[in-house]
Amino acid sequence: MSQLFDDDYASALDAADPLQALRGEFHIPRHDGREQAYFCGNSLGLQPKAARGYVEEVLEKWAVEAVEGHFTGSGQWMPYHALVRNGLAAAVGALPSEVVAMNSLTANLHLMMVSFYRPTPERPAILMEAGAFPSDRYALESQVRFHGFDPDTDLIEVQPDEPDGTLSMAAIEQAIAEHGPRLALVLWPGVQYRTGQAFDMAEIVRLGHAAGAVVGFDHAHAAGNLPLRLHDAGADFAVWCHYKYMNAGPGAVAGCFVHERHARTDRPRFAGWWGHEQDSRFRMGPDFVPTPGAEGWQLSNPPILGLAPLRASLALFERAGMDALRARSERLTAYLQALIEARLSPVLQIVTPGEASRRGAQLSLRVRAGREAGRDLFAHLARNGVLGDWREPDVIRISPAPLYNNHADLLRFAREVQTWAAITHGQPHD
Ligand SMILES: *Cc1c(COP(=O)(O)O)cnc(C)c1O
Repeated sequence: MSQLFDDDYASALDAADPLQALRGEFHIPRHDGREQAYFCGNSLGLQPKAARGYVEEVLEKWAVEAVEGHFTGSGQWMPYHALVRNGLAAAVGALPSEVVAMNSLTANLHLMMVSFYRPTPERPAILMEAGAFPSDRYALESQVRFHGFDPDTDLIEVQPDEPDGTLSMAAIEQAIAEHGPRLALVLWPGVQYRTGQAFDMAEIVRLGHAAGAVVGFDHAHAAGNLPLRLHDAGADFAVWCHYKYMNAGPGAVAGCFVHERHARTDRPRFAGWWGHEQDSRFRMGPDFVPTPGAEGWQLSNPPILGLAPLRASLALFERAGMDALRARSERLTAYLQALIEARLSPVLQIVTPGEASRRGAQLSLRVRAGREAGRDLFAHLARNGVLGDWREPDVIRISPAPLYNNHADLLRFAREVQTWAAITHGQPHD
């Protein structure tokens, strides 16, 4: 399969790809005068060229209309969150009434737990993955403590049971069976940030619900990466950010899903005026009447400038279609896997599961020679315009984002790994 490494082969694959043109809708950072091979879409997605126009529209409206901008024209601010509603619903597989853009990811996780983590002495526990993103663990642990329970016994972390640090469905099932009667909540990622493993979300919901627990997801690494089916999977709630695969810019306003079955829940919640029933919100009465659906969890009028770039990004997701985008993503990631398996396996070991159904865009690559060599390889790649990201102690994450990465980027990565290997091989170390 030596043609894998031919420039012509990679560019033919790109030329034949129906979604290749979307790359032109993004600003690609440059390095030494040429486009970077940017693989950090799992950390900060690139800027859609149209984002600036949406932001400038807000600035212009503010300059010209000031407070009137809340109520005038197509981009009026009062119902601005509604401009992203349908696009978000399509991206995560939800009904429009089940999604809202608000706050930030960790804040939304806390707000969801106020309503959906209701521990009792008989059922106090949360089940989560060991090695979760730290913010999630901090949030969950602090919620357990806030309710007067003990994280040592009531924050249950399922350990990886597969050799590369991934988790089998059997291990999750076993943990839910073992702890089921004590579980108040199962909180799971759609895609694990470090290993890139994707989970069978519908099955996790089914198991969690069968045990009597609420089931929520953190989709930080899944939104914009996999075609999610939040409604059909039956998740109780989900939270995610918009600055990773969703390309809405640093610190962009985050996303939140609440299943339709909770649209009119009388569970407790932390309330704010923007969650109040919309028709009567401006009567400014003393009693909180929640608006039905996910929008009932809003606290404040949203930062319009932080929402504006999301409109640009959602338009691109809409144009591509999540399923077509996923098909392209599978092609790109399979090509990366093939390049590695053909010639790079003496250097890199793929930690992410090999089956497309168990991963998203990202491959996590362990540098076999260890941390020191890994840092050196990572620096070599960066010096040559190939940007992945580094996870201690020895992992490089490469995430080909299907909206803007292409086969040529991946070939460039593989070539630089080969170059580095040739250089370091030629230099005996002791
Ligand atoms: C990126 C990420 C976060 C970051 O949280 P913020 O509140 O957006 O700063 C949290 N959890 C997970 C799983 C993430 O991937």
